[in-house]
Amino acid sequence: MATGDPIAIAVDLGGTQFRVAAITSEPRILHRAAEPTGAEAAPDVVITDIARAVAGVRARVPSSPVIGLGVAAPGPLDHLSGVVFHAPNLPMWRDVPLAHELRARTGLPVLLGNDANLAALAEARCGAGRGAEHLVYLTVSTGIGSGFVVHGHLLLGKHGAAAEAGHMTLSLDGPLCGCGNRGCLEAYASGTGLVNRAREAMASGRTSALAGRGADLDARDIETAALGGDGLARELIEQAGTALGLGVRNLLHLFNPEVVVIGGGVARIGSPLWDPMLRVVESDALSVYRQDLRIVPAALADDSGLLGAALLVHETRSESRVPGSEVRVPSIARASRAPKLRAADSELETRNAERETLNAQP
Ligand SMILES: [Zn+2]
Repeated sequence: MATGDPIAIAVDLGGTQFRVAAITSEPRILHRAAEPTGAEAAPDVVITDIARAVAGVRARVPSSPVIGLGVAAPGPLDHLSGVVFHAPNLPMWRDVPLAHELRARTGLPVLLGNDANLAALAEARCGAGRGAEHLVYLTVSTGIGSGFVVHGHLLLGKHGAAAEAGHMTLSLDGPLCGCGNRGCLEAYASGTGLVNRAREAMASGRTSALAGRGADLDARDIETAALGGDGLARELIEQAGTALGLGVRNLLHLFNPEVVVIGGGVARIGSPLWDPMLRVVESDALSVYRQDLRIVPAALADDSGLLGAALLVHETRSESRVPGSEVRVPSIARASRAPKLRAADSELETRNAERETLNAQP
């Protein structure tokens, strides 16, 4: 019989690799594994690979009761139905009932969340915003993801699609975004946005060291060129920082957070990006929003999705152990007190019965 601390198995599904870990409620990572996702593979193949990796990680913690599987997946997705509608970097993924399929293959209750939302939860609980009740999280990478913790709860919205700050409009006639609209924050400040803007500038006659990179040009090249003094690269990063500052300013005015946590590969460019961002916030945001405000780099790096997925499972279990209790801060914001975060398939009652069985374990 399992006698150790309760464990959540967490999965972080990325475009190039998926990662699996056994994680305690603290949260502490006990064991982990990573495998290539096979972005061009059929979802069914990927899900089978994930289920096998989950079994492998479970086998490493034989004495611990496994209370559920938490999955951080790229959005948009519906956390209630457990369906991934569309996954950036996974072109074969359309309307995939991921939670249902993983449950069928692992026998575990499955909770699904957007990877940026779950990273926000992790940063609020055990990362750069540890203990914050009001947190804004941005991940500036190939795209821009975000998550908001409001009064200690993750903000999800009616369909779980809230918190897409990358697609807030900063300019009516700005650059075209991957979403089809113009002037999104992501079109200015993401890695993809930086590359697109560099290409457009060079196509219109700007000279730059970036021209030598041709089709392989990426955000890292722009960072390197900026450090080498390339005028276009410096200008683009400065503009990206200014756009991020405008985005953060908008979010301060909407959410009045204690802390803004910024992660992702592009954010690691550092002061050439951060300085213009902070200048905009300091000069433009109303003073009440800047009182005691911290704007800090993410602390959990690549583990934020895994930790958030595990926290989702542990916190949902804690809620269900004390029905009606106001003591434990639940992870998910909701309009009414009544329904807890629903397990991600139609067999909710069966699963709740399973959870009660799990909860009854010492
Ligand atoms: Zn957009």
